[in-house]
Amino acid sequence: MPELPEVENIVRKLGPVVSGKTIEDITVFRDKSFQGEADLVLGLPIESVSRRAKFIRFHFPGNQNILSHLKMTGQFIYVDNENRVGGGHPTADWVKELPSRHTRVQLSLSGNATLFFNDQRVFGWLRVLADPEVEALYGKYGPDINTPAASIEYLANKFARTSRPVKIALMDNSIICGVGNIYACDALNLAGISPLRPANSLSLSEIEKLLQSAKQVIDLGIKTGGATIDNYVNLDGFAGSYQNHLQVYGREGEKCYQCGGVIEKIKLGGRGTYYCPHCQV
Ligand SMILES: [Zn+2]
Repeated sequence: MPELPEVENIVRKLGPVVSGKTIEDITVFRDKSFQGEADLVLGLPIESVSRRAKFIRFHFPGNQNILSHLKMTGQFIYVDNENRVGGGHPTADWVKELPSRHTRVQLSLSGNATLFFNDQRVFGWLRVLADPEVEALYGKYGPDINTPAASIEYLANKFARTSRPVKIALMDNSIICGVGNIYACDALNLAGISPLRPANSLSLSEIEKLLQSAKQVIDLGIKTGGATIDNYVNLDGFAGSYQNHLQVYGREGEKCYQCGGVIEKIKLGGRGTYYCPHCQV
């Protein structure tokens, strides 16, 4: 599942190549994947591309947008005469001729360019929404982890209200956005905090340490292009390399970099959770 760093990298790659290009045609291969009135954006230029939480937003004049979420297996691939850029769930579609059998939506752009939305499992979507509709949706989410709004005071206030395990609270999008499973495991290890601790048992200095660690791993995730795990295709400019910087995620039975203890794997909230019982207390 693409996490915040992977989505941020898609936005950074698509922005420069699609901005200024006009939507000439929209072909929907799977109705479920495209919602709203295509007519509202046809013939309009994409002004810019932005991200909030894991939403990808294509901005158009007249307060129109195409908002998208990749969910489990979505990917965007942009192709023109010279470039092939994009990202998302790693599959052979990164390198195959497109459209493929996983292409759900095809946006034909000016300049002989095409933006493909591929999605094996069809949980992802594109939606035509006006600005107020986008803002209303965004309002349901907590601040992004890599923004100043994600402050110690803010997090302390939220954590004080829940006795759920801190890892689950940290991954709760209504509290804070962007800390997916991989990054939550790693941030808790760097902060020396057990994922099982009730969120409301953390001291202010522990929350500060955790917030700092979470921002640190997300920054590294963004810098390295995110984590590309289980990939069998490795295309330059598509795959990230955070998987080479993992602290504990996927390292069951190996030594903790912080203390040399042995990393264990447990299930927490249905998710594989890696931590070092020796130094994470
Ligand atoms: Zn340790």
